[in-house]
Amino acid sequence: MSLVPFTNEVISDYSLAAAREAYRRALTEVRGQLGSHYPLWIGGEAVDTGEYLTSVDPCNPDQVVGYSAKAKQPEIEKAMAAAERAWRDWAALPMRQRARALIKLAAVMRRRKLELAAWETFEAAKNYPEAEADVAEAIDFCEYYARQAIRLATPLPDFSSPGESNESFLSPIGVGVVIPPWNFPLAILAGSAVGPVVVGNTVIIKPSPATPITAQKFLECVQEAGFPAGVINLLTGEDADLGDQLVDHPRTRFINFTGSLKTGLRINERAARVHPGQHWLKRVALEMGGKDALIVDETADLDLAAAAAAQSGFGFQGQKCSAMSRLIIVDEVYDELLQRFLARVERLSLGPAEDNHDVAAVINQQAVDKISGYLEKGQREARLVMGGHRTAGSGYYIEPTVFAEVPPSATIACEEIFGPVVAVLKADDFDHALQIANSTPYGLTGGVMSRERIRLERARRELEVGNLYLNRKITGALVGVQPFGGLKLSGSNSKAGGPDYLRLFTVAKTVSERF
Ligand code: NAD
Repeated sequence: MSLVPFTNEVISDYSLAAAREAYRRALTEVRGQLGSHYPLWIGGEAVDTGEYLTSVDPCNPDQVVGYSAKAKQPEIEKAMAAAERAWRDWAALPMRQRARALIKLAAVMRRRKLELAAWETFEAAKNYPEAEADVAEAIDFCEYYARQAIRLATPLPDFSSPGESNESFLSPIGVGVVIPPWNFPLAILAGSAVGPVVVGNTVIIKPSPATPITAQKFLECVQEAGFPAGVINLLTGEDADLGDQLVDHPRTRFINFTGSLKTGLRINERAARVHPGQHWLKRVALEMGGKDALIVDETADLDLAAAAAAQSGFGFQGQKCSAMSRLIIVDEVYDELLQRFLARVERLSLGPAEDNHDVAAVINQQAVDKISGYLEKGQREARLVMGGHRTAGSGYYIEPTVFAEVPPSATIACEEIFGPVVAVLKADDFDHALQIANSTPYGLTGGVMSRERIRLERARRELEVGNLYLNRKITGALVGVQPFGGLKLSGSNSKAGGPDYLRLFTVAKTVSERF
């Protein structure tokens, strides 16, 4: 099979009326399907448990997006058995055949691109470009990992000696559990599943209870693409019924997790225990939170910096692991940049994702409560210069919020808020800015806006982040272009969308034959 070189999926230009019109048609089509019931998917079969999670539209919580079956222990056992059964044949296929399955899946999702995006607008409150970008990224993961898998199929270098042949090759691990977050409900879910799958593993996906319907749509695509039964299984349900149980299961071979620091650390600890009957160490990939900083020095293009900060801080309501939550400005340009930044933030529109507002609702009531706690704390710790409130009405809206003169030790400068809230900090100079940026336990993304070559080079070496952006926004990593994964307590640095990712889900075997 020959494949054209990988390129990222193109996203529509929503400044064009025709693109907006096409998106609205997709929304209308999906609106007619809201409120349906969905089963679990185990071994290629629909399993209905009669109890359901209810998924609602964050912008209008009275609108039910869908009901997804709740799995419990019996369904975990069934899914484990189905994934183990499927593994024998799936693992034995040549890499190219599994790669073809991903290319087919990408084609199915591409044909359904706007429809899938529209589901995300309803379920996750993503506006048009954010939702389409998430679907595009899911497609990119399939296309990219298919190509990387073919590359990986090349035998590893042999070290043969006279009279003996030595061969090393990679094999899949077995059945893994995929645990994605809700904030990229298709891209991270799909990427975390198809990566392990293309190299021969089988998986049980346990999506976030906040976005089960997007997960259901992915499973529809998997079926449409003709994946063999049991290769990709879906268990939706409550965290209390599924989280620890799947992680602790003695037959789980690996866990591919993306989510908060708290949950990640819990998984890391639990997965380290070897349970009776478990004959292996569980491999764990953990990608967690961030407290991402953008540094602006006195030589920077301040208009560019203000635009990058507004985009990085408030895109998808600040609910990206890569979102800028700290804007660190050196003293000399602090007042000037703060004003330009506020002028940009003021122009952001707040309203329903369905109407493509810049900032829509946050994911759920829990998020509103958590963010509101930080808004209160922030008013005690710093100077509120914009927003700061939840808006009236039933949607989960929080105003784009900016706190200024935030001390580096303030709670709002240290903890991940995961909402439309930015802390602006003043640094004495560039050295001080670097020191502040590195002062949290997180190390996911970061950025520097500067015209000083030496400073940009220093940032490359000294900023403790997995993804560093210079003179641009700090969100929007592209598959195959910016492999993604953090340092420090932001994660195990698995670098999704990069050339080494698939290797994490394989084991290497060396065989020596004496002739
Ligand atoms: P979360 O930790 O609450 O949940 C993540 C996943 O873990 C969900 O599927 C959830 O259902 C599941 N879960 C919850 N308790 C569990 C348990 N005890 N055992 C096993 N699984 C359990 O995070 P979230 O709110 O869904 O997502 C937001 C977080 O994810 C933020 O911290 C964000 O920074 C992070 N994130 C990181 C990246 C990255 O690449 N580093 C990308 C996106 C999001």
